Amino acid sequence: MSATTKYIFVTGGVTSSLGKGILAASLAKLLQARGYTVTIQKLDPYINVDPGTLNPYEHGECFVTDDGAETDLDLGHYERFLNIPTSQANNITTGRIYKAVIEKERRGDFLGKTVQVIPHITDEIKNRIRLLGKTGNYQFVITEIGGTVGDIESLPYIEAVRQLKWELGNNAMVIHLTLIPYLSTTGELKTKPTQHSVKLLLEYGVQPDVLVCRTEHSLNRDIKNKIALFCNVAPNAVIEARDASTIYEVPLMMEEEQLDIVVLNQLNMPVSDNMDLAKWKDFLHKFKHPHHEVKIGLVGKYVELKDAYKSISEAFIHAGAANDCKVTIEWIHSESITDENVGEKFKWLRGILVAPGFGQRGIEGKISAIKYAREHQIPFLGVCLGMQCAVIEFARNVLGLKDADSTEMNPETPYPVIDLLETQKKITNKGGTMRLGSYPCNIAEKTKAWEIYKHKEIKERHRHRYEFNNEYLPDFEKAGMIASGINPEGGLVEIIEIKDHPWFVGVQFHPEYKSTVANPHPLFVSFVKAAIEVGKLVH
Ligand code: GLN
Repeated sequence: MSATTKYIFVTGGVTSSLGKGILAASLAKLLQARGYTVTIQKLDPYINVDPGTLNPYEHGECFVTDDGAETDLDLGHYERFLNIPTSQANNITTGRIYKAVIEKERRGDFLGKTVQVIPHITDEIKNRIRLLGKTGNYQFVITEIGGTVGDIESLPYIEAVRQLKWELGNNAMVIHLTLIPYLSTTGELKTKPTQHSVKLLLEYGVQPDVLVCRTEHSLNRDIKNKIALFCNVAPNAVIEARDASTIYEVPLMMEEEQLDIVVLNQLNMPVSDNMDLAKWKDFLHKFKHPHHEVKIGLVGKYVELKDAYKSISEAFIHAGAANDCKVTIEWIHSESITDENVGEKFKWLRGILVAPGFGQRGIEGKISAIKYAREHQIPFLGVCLGMQCAVIEFARNVLGLKDADSTEMNPETPYPVIDLLETQKKITNKGGTMRLGSYPCNIAEKTKAWEIYKHKEIKERHRHRYEFNNEYLPDFEKAGMIASGINPEGGLVEIIEIKDHPWFVGVQFHPEYKSTVANPHPLFVSFVKAAIEVGKLVH
C-alpha cells in the first residue's frame, strides 16, 4: 500500500560516475532477496524530454522499456539485477517535468498563479516519485538523482527530496554516494571531499542517513568514525564500497557491509533471516570460473564508447555464464572493415555481432563483416540495423540486386529491401516517434528461431523506423534467407535466418534489452553456444 511504501533517495557527491545506478540496483537486489518488493527510478537533470534523441556518445546506450519509453541506460541495470520490467514512470527528465508543468499552465490548471520552480516544478517531481509507490506494487521505491550535488541542474530534485523527507518522515531516507580519494604520495585516504559534499547537501536542507564511500583501499574504523562525526551519521551507516572486479559483485559487497540492514533499521522494517541470493551467487561463480572462452566480434560505429552497447555486452556476460564460458568481446569499428582486410581482422573470432545504429556511417564495413560471416560459416547475430545490413548484403551478393539498400542510407536505391512503413513516412518529429517498445512476434516451426525460443508467440522490444520490405520476401526465401519470425498484426518480418548456415540470425528487435542475470536471453545463449561449437571445430 502506498501509505507504507518506503522511499529511498540516492544522491551523489564529489564526482560523477561513482556508480549510483549500480548502488541503487545492488541495494534493491538485497531488499528483493529478503523478500521485499522494490522498484528503482532515475531522475535525470537534463532538458531533453527523453534520451531518445541523444547521440550515444553523450550518455551511452538508450534503453527501451516494454511500454516504449526511451530511457537512461541505468534502467537496464535495474532490470538486469531485479529481473522485473521498468516503465515510463521509472525515468524522469527535467524536460519531461517542465513539459508537463507548461502543458498544465496552458490548460489553465494554475489559473491566476505565477508558475514557479517551487512549488510547481518540485510538486511535479514529487508526484512522479510518489506515483510508483501509489501503484501499491512496491514496498520500496529507490529514486536515483542523476548528476552530482551542487550541479545547478539538479537543485530542484534535491529540493524535492528535502520536502519529501519532511513529509514522509520515517518512511524516507537518503543515501549519499561519495568518493574517498587515496593520495599515493602520502599514502592516505582523504575524507575532506566527502565532508564538503555532505555540507553542501546540508546547505540544501538534506541530511543524508547513510554514506556509501567509494574507495580504492579499505576504510578503517578511525576513518569511518571521522566521517560519521563530521557528517552527522552513525558510524555503522558509513559504508565502504571498494572497487569491484564486476558490477555483479557489488550486491554481495554491500551485503557484507550490511547496507540492507542499516537501511531496514532506519526505515523501521523487519530484518528477517531469509536472504535468497543462491541463484545470483551461482551466476557469479559461473561467470568467474568459466570452462571455455570465445572471442566474439562486436561490429559497431560507437565502439570507442563501450557504454553505447551496454545491454549487448551485459547480455554476453549472462549468456556466457549460462554456457560456462567467458565471452571476450573484440570491439571492431565498422569504418575500419573492408572486403580486403576482413579475413585478417576476423581470424580469431568465433562469432560476429553487428550492432544497432542509425545513419550511413560505417554501413559498408558492416556489410563486409556480414558477407564474411555468411561465406565462412561463422555464427552471426544481427541486431536491428545489424539485421537490416544482413538483408542488404544478401540482396546484393546472393540475389544479385546491385545497389540494394535501405532507404535510410540511400533514398534513391533501385532495390529498397529495407524501407519505411507508410505510417512512418508522415512523421516529421524525431522524439519518441519510432516503432518503440514491446511487440508480439510469431515464430515459424522447424526454424533456428523455433529451436531457440521453443515458443510460437514471443514478445520483444523494438526501436527503429525502417522495416524489411515484404515485396522482396519471396525472392529472399527462394534463395535461402527465410523469415522465421513475423509480427502477427502487420506481417512485418522480425527475424531472418539463413538455412544453409550453422547459425545466422538477424532480428529487427533488441533482444539485449530483455537479458537479465536470472533470465539470460535465449538468442544470446544459443549464439554463444554456437560460437563455442565453432571453436571446437577449429582447434
Ligand atoms: N536505423 C535503423 C532504423 O531506424 C535501425 C535502428 C536500430 O538499429 N535501432 O530502422
